[in-house]
Amino acid sequence: MKFKYAIALTGGIGSGKSTTSSLLKLYGYSVICADRISHEVLEDNSWLVVERFGSEILSYGKVDRRKLGEIVFSNKDVKKELESILHPLIKNKIEILASSLEEKKFPYFIDIPLFYETRNYDISNVVLVYASLDVRLNRIMLRDNINDSMALKKIESQMSLDDKKNLASYVIYNNGTLEELQSEVEKYIKTIN
Ligand code: ADP
Repeated sequence: MKFKYAIALTGGIGSGKSTTSSLLKLYGYSVICADRISHEVLEDNSWLVVERFGSEILSYGKVDRRKLGEIVFSNKDVKKELESILHPLIKNKIEILASSLEEKKFPYFIDIPLFYETRNYDISNVVLVYASLDVRLNRIMLRDNINDSMALKKIESQMSLDDKKNLASYVIYNNGTLEELQSEVEKYIKTIN
């Protein structure tokens, strides 16, 4: 599918992508959240996961994403296998939602955390939320209640944010306060209307 009015919203863990997404919604933009859709797809297709990994993967009748994560992150092949089951379903659902937004002929966002890592979507307009490494570390430690080495591990499991920054169509800087982020978002919105 060709995404004509879609703008991919991406960043790196802790750079402020979700916060920016909330601000964009406040300004009236539609945002399709790939993470949320992947959770919904997993719930709706839990039988596929049970078929592959057994019912131990369930907690209270639902797929336990923590248990699944433990299995998947310790084995690259299994991770790929699971992705090959779920990614087409996620993409299909995103495309259905995007098709109805395309009809409005107005910009909308698809929040895709790993846009550059996966390159699953043919979207040329990409806005990236950027923050420096130390700022991201502090934010992740606070948000996820983890120590600095765990936060660094999470950051290093993704493509470098500086490399992504060089590829993006627009960069929203988020090293400062929430008020500063809001004015960055306002400045950005003026460029797309
Ligand atoms: P991401 O979605 O990129 O992982 P989040 O939007 O969740 O990042 O931001 C990470 C954490 O930092 C969250 O707890 C969020 O509330 C906080 N945060 C984001 N931007 C700012 C900011 N400008 N000032 C203060 N806290 C912020």
